[in-house]
Amino acid sequence: MKTDFDIGIIGGGPAGATAAAYLAKANLSVAVFERETFPREHVGESLVPATTPVLIETGCMDKVEQAGFPKKYGAAWTSAEERDIDQMGFRNLTNGFRSAEVLFAEREQLGVDRDYTFHVDRGLFDQILLKNAESLGATVYQGVPVGEVDLSGERPVMRVRIGGQSVPITVRMVVDASGRRTHLGTQLKTKIVDPVFNQYAVHTWFDNLDRAALAVDKEQADYIFIHFLPVADTWVWQIPITDTITSVGVVSQRARLRSYSGDQEKFFWNTIASRPELLDVLKNAQQVRPLKAEGDYSYGMKQIVGDKYVLIGDAARFVDPIFSSGVSVALNSARIACQDIIAAARADDFSRRRFAAYESKLRRAVQNWYEFISMYYRLNILFTAFVQDDRYRIDVLKMLQGDVYEDEPKVLATMREIVRAVEDDPDHLWHPYLGELRAPSAAPGF
Ligand code: FAD
Repeated sequence: MKTDFDIGIIGGGPAGATAAAYLAKANLSVAVFERETFPREHVGESLVPATTPVLIETGCMDKVEQAGFPKKYGAAWTSAEERDIDQMGFRNLTNGFRSAEVLFAEREQLGVDRDYTFHVDRGLFDQILLKNAESLGATVYQGVPVGEVDLSGERPVMRVRIGGQSVPITVRMVVDASGRRTHLGTQLKTKIVDPVFNQYAVHTWFDNLDRAALAVDKEQADYIFIHFLPVADTWVWQIPITDTITSVGVVSQRARLRSYSGDQEKFFWNTIASRPELLDVLKNAQQVRPLKAEGDYSYGMKQIVGDKYVLIGDAARFVDPIFSSGVSVALNSARIACQDIIAAARADDFSRRRFAAYESKLRRAVQNWYEFISMYYRLNILFTAFVQDDRYRIDVLKMLQGDVYEDEPKVLATMREIVRAVEDDPDHLWHPYLGELRAPSAAPGF
């Protein structure tokens, strides 16, 4: 077994596989160590169009198209009841805040050559990306977990577990793409738990679910649907996986699970029952996977780059998945980090300052998502109002397409102002609609 590489990557999910592809294309010797054997199940099935340029650049797009994943042309939101409230000067609010939808075709996006993205079975999608990295020259080990990483010497040493043995692998630098296991951040004790969001998700797949049942426009059945429940800070995703399989997940505050004494089955079904029409849809379909729970989010890292290491994807930061941002951040963080890594390899200098451009770009991007998400949870009717108002719609769509890596989307400043005005004035007509989660107006220092 070869035990010496330029770059060692922890984890072969979308972030790790994408980094491996870029680095192998740049003729660096790359090893990916993945603890599981692919295909393996994974949450995070709905993509945004900002993944498209990365899939094209790494040569995956044709394979993703050939896999026949359902095409995602847009996104839609529904809420439980008509809310007859003051429209506060917003334009075009036609359906009492009850639903909203966007179509990606409404806004051109740099580097995106089609008006759709995909909903994916992550077992198959992640396998396509990892095989692609291998075909470009990366060495991929599956079923091989990484243990301790020693960054103290001139070259980092990764201990990997193969056939019951701990084998030392020497590299010039380490990329941590270990997802929410946050391998390096945990070892280096740089993880910071989010002080506001402590969400919890329980999800499964259904066969023969009527996806159009809650859609206002039945043509939109294959959009991702976010259904709001009349329970604080709680929503349900509906994501097409194949022609007949649909992924459904309930996201709520972890604290609510306690009221069910940790019983996920009750938590899932009782929460869904708060919207009887949604319960009917699920009851008329067949559940084909056991329920699965996801915790451990959200968090940031004090440091996402250092001498001889970089963190990408969920290993660097995780924000609430309500806008399907995760896989896009995984792919784009890999893309941006690799620009710095390739330059560092050419200069034979892997010191922290070499990764400063990546660090500032990623922090800015995730900060944009975080603020958008915080405002959404704080006052979700505001989001519906902004989506329908032609002055703001395209700027909101820009975020929903995943275009967050350059400047702050202008709409964020206006949203911030309105949320603050509603919070500060208990007599404000929208005050009763404030959610319970209150993020600081500037996210905590991560
Ligand atoms: P992962 O995909 O988690 O890959 C990390 C890999 O590292 C894994 O395969 C793991 O086995 C491996 N690994 C970990 N530790 C080690 C080790 N020590 N040694 C070797 N290998 C290791 N995103 C979206 O884009 N759309 C969505 O609709 C969406 N919905 C979500 C819903 C929920 C409830 C949650 C929790 C997340 C959701 N996400 C969504 C986010 C998405 O799942 C992640 O952002 C995405 O998977 C991140 O990719 P990654 O490569 O960074 O990590």
